[in-house]
Amino acid sequence: VQAVFRSNLSHLLELMGSGKESLIFMKKRTKRFTAQWALAAQRLAQKLGGVRREQKQILVHIGFLTEESGDVFSPRVLKGGPLGEMVQWADILAALYVLGHGLRITVSLKELQRCRIRVIDTFGTEPAYNHEEYATLHGYRTNWGYWNLNPKQFMTMFPHTPDNSFMGFVSEELNDTEKQLIKDGKASNMAVVYGKEASIWKLQGKEKFLSILNKYMEIHGTVYYESQRPPEVPAFVKNHGLLPQPEFQQLLRKAKLFIGFGFPYEGPAPLEAIANGCVFLQSRFSPPHSSLNHEFFRGKPTSREVFSQHPYAENFIGKPHVWTVDYNNSEEFEAAIQAIMTTQVDPYLPYEYTCEGMLERIHAYIQHQDFCVSPGPAPPGARVPQSPFILAPNATHLEWTRNASLALGAWPPAHSLRAWLATAGRACTDACLDHGLICEPSFFPFLNSQDAFQKLQVPCDGIESEMNHLYPAFAQPGQECFLQKEPLLFSCAGSSTKYRRLCPCRDFRKGQVALCQDCL
Ligand code: UDP
Repeated sequence: VQAVFRSNLSHLLELMGSGKESLIFMKKRTKRFTAQWALAAQRLAQKLGGVRREQKQILVHIGFLTEESGDVFSPRVLKGGPLGEMVQWADILAALYVLGHGLRITVSLKELQRCRIRVIDTFGTEPAYNHEEYATLHGYRTNWGYWNLNPKQFMTMFPHTPDNSFMGFVSEELNDTEKQLIKDGKASNMAVVYGKEASIWKLQGKEKFLSILNKYMEIHGTVYYESQRPPEVPAFVKNHGLLPQPEFQQLLRKAKLFIGFGFPYEGPAPLEAIANGCVFLQSRFSPPHSSLNHEFFRGKPTSREVFSQHPYAENFIGKPHVWTVDYNNSEEFEAAIQAIMTTQVDPYLPYEYTCEGMLERIHAYIQHQDFCVSPGPAPPGARVPQSPFILAPNATHLEWTRNASLALGAWPPAHSLRAWLATAGRACTDACLDHGLICEPSFFPFLNSQDAFQKLQVPCDGIESEMNHLYPAFAQPGQECFLQKEPLLFSCAGSSTKYRRLCPCRDFRKGQVALCQDCL
C-alpha cells in the first residue's frame, strides 16, 4: 500500500486519547500546527514527485507517560515541569501521521509488542555505552544504554552526535508579513528569562549579571508559582507565571532578548525565541559540563562535553541570533547587552526545525534506514578497491568516487564519503566539522582496513584488530595501526590524545544536517 500525505489531523487527535494533562498539552499543540503541517506536506509532496512510499504500520509507545514508568511528567505539566519531551512526541506523531503511515499509539506497557524499534532518546547514546560487554568492561555502563542496538536506532532531540539519528521537533514558521510585523513591534529593552521553574533563579552569582541587565532592560519571567510570588525571583522581575504555549509565543514576539541562566539544557524554547526574532543570550561553560562533572548528565550514556546551555544554538545558529558569553566577566556581559539592544535581527528558524524539514528527514529515515542488516564489514566486492580513493595533496584526505558508490548502492550513498585522519586527541565528530563536513558512522566499514591506511599513507609498523570505540586509529608512539573488531563500536564520538582517528565524513544539506546532498 502506498502512503498518502494527510492534511486533516482530526483522526490523529482521536488516536492520541485523552485524560492526562500531558496528552492535552500535546493535542493542543498538534491542533495549533495543523495548517503548518498541511502546507509542509504539500511542499514535500511536490519536491518528492511521484516517488513510491510504502505505508508502514507504526506502533508509537510513549514510554515516559506509562503508569509503569511512574509517569512523573503529566502531573508537572501545569507546574513548570519539562515540556520539551511532549513538544517532541507531539511533533513525531504529527509527522508520521502527515506522511501517511498507519499509527497505533500506546501509553501502556502491556500493549508494547515485539517490533523493529527506534528509541526516542533526548540526549543520545554513544556507541561505547551501547555495547553491553564493552561498556561493562571499560566503565561505560550507565543506567541507560547497553542495549546493543544499532546506535542509529536512537533518535535525539538535537543533532548531538551523528552516531544517533537526529529526530528533532518543530517550531512555528513565520511568513514575510508576520516577520515584518514582529520586527516593527519589538520592544528593544524587553528581556524574557528562559526557565519555568523557580530553581533556576538560585544560580550563584546571578546578582551581578542581573543588576547589569536590569540597568538596560525590563526583565520578564514565566516562572510557575502556586499562590505567592516565588521568593527566588527578584521583585524587579515581571513574572507572568507559567503561560500557555501560544501566550508564551506572544511574549517572545514583543521581546528583544531571551536570556538563559544555564539551565534547562538544550530545550525547544531558545529555538522558538529565535524564530520569533529574539536574540538568545547564554553563558559559556568553562570547564564544559558533562556526565563526569554535572549531576544532570550523570548516568546518561554519553561523554559529550557541553560548552554552553544550548550547544545547537551556539554552533548551528550563532551570531547575530545567538550570543554565548562568560557571565562572570561583567564587561563582556555588559558589552553583549549593549550590542544586542542596537542590533536588528530577523526571525530565523533553521530548515531542519520547520515542519517541512522534519517531514523530509523522517521520510528519508523511513525510506532508507534498515536496521535488519547489522553494521558489518562492507559487502564483498565493495572492499576498498584500487581505484576509489583519490589522494588529496596533503595526503590526509581521501575521496570516494562516484563509480564505487554505484557498486555499493547503500544509504547514504558512499560517493559522499570524505575520509580524514584526525589530529591526535580529536574526535571524528569535530574532525569532520573542522572541514565543513559531518561524521557518517555508516561509512566506517569502508575505512576499516589496512588498505585504507595505506591509501592515506599512514606509516603503520604493525596492524592489529581490537574492540575499541576509537578505532580505526593510528597510535603515534609505536606507529601502530588499529582496526575495529566490533562493528557496533564504530563511533563518531570519542577521542584520546594517544590516537589519530580515521574518520569518515560526508557533506550535508544546508539546514538539514541529517541528510547528505544526494540523500533524499
Ligand atoms: N513554554 C510554555 N510556557 C511557558 C514557557 C515555556 O508553554 O511559560 C513551552 C515552550 O513553548 C517550549 C516548551 O515549554 O516549547 C519547552 O521548553 P523548554 O525549552 O523550557 O524545555 P523543557 O525544559 O521544558 O524540556
